[in-house]
Amino acid sequence: MELWYTEKQTDTFGITAKITKTYVHEQTEFQQLDVIETEQFGTMLVLDGMVMTTVKDEFVYHEMVAHPVLFTHPHPEHVLVVGGGDGGVIREIMKHPGVKKAVLVDIDGKVIEYSKKYLPSIAGELDNPRVEVLVGDGFMHIHDHKHTYDVIMVDSTEPVGPAVNLFTRGFYQGIYEALKDDGIFVAQTDNPWFKADLIQTVNRDVKEVFPIVRVYCANIPTYPSGLWTFTMGSKKYDPLEVDETAIPEIETNYYTPRLHKAAFVLPRFVENLVKS
Ligand code: SAM
Repeated sequence: MELWYTEKQTDTFGITAKITKTYVHEQTEFQQLDVIETEQFGTMLVLDGMVMTTVKDEFVYHEMVAHPVLFTHPHPEHVLVVGGGDGGVIREIMKHPGVKKAVLVDIDGKVIEYSKKYLPSIAGELDNPRVEVLVGDGFMHIHDHKHTYDVIMVDSTEPVGPAVNLFTRGFYQGIYEALKDDGIFVAQTDNPWFKADLIQTVNRDVKEVFPIVRVYCANIPTYPSGLWTFTMGSKKYDPLEVDETAIPEIETNYYTPRLHKAAFVLPRFVENLVKS
């Protein structure tokens, strides 16, 4: 008998993956957590029925959350990741020797526990001495840590359940206050095919808080529509003013110094969503 995992990305469209094994199927305090083995993309973490990460294509998302912002800020030393319990963004942050401390705050300790066990290639740096892992609500953490971080990365689930507060204007104001005077933040902001309204709303809200707001894209085959956006809000540094020839080559499979600015060149239908 064939077993397939299907993610309904909208009420009328989805993707399906042939699976060979189920490692975890558990309702945690916050969400349904599944870890499955897929033939096409290897081990996959699924939360509330939505693909979070797979060992085959995770590098795209994790590199594109971490490196554009860390190569835009001239000296990022203190970094916060909200969500990100699978450890992939932390792994990428560790490729920046100037980062003295990376704090990860994920509301669900089970995500961290099972990612360490079943996704070691992604979660492997969570035990790095430069990393502090906290289990808690990122919304509360930023309000308790004013003027603390050089860079904040929001690697959360969709704006449902525990993450619903992480896509609000109040949250972006809180991020602004948790950042130092020249701080920068980046958030994953979903896809323009099925979540255009979300992208527009986030862009409007972030523009009310930050003087510099930029949106960039990446291709993530296992995410809804395959075209993913990221929204960067900055107090001082503009990613488009970085000298990409000065960006060092680091070990990556998607991000490159040449892609740093190119990623901000948007398809017209995405440009139209975010032009002020
Ligand atoms: N890359 C994925 C995406 O773009 O959807 C996100 C992956 S990461 C596993 C998402 C994490 O956000 C989950 O582990 C979840 O527990 C965490 N999360 C959701 N709401 C949160 C909150 N309020 N505070 C901290 N973490 C939260």
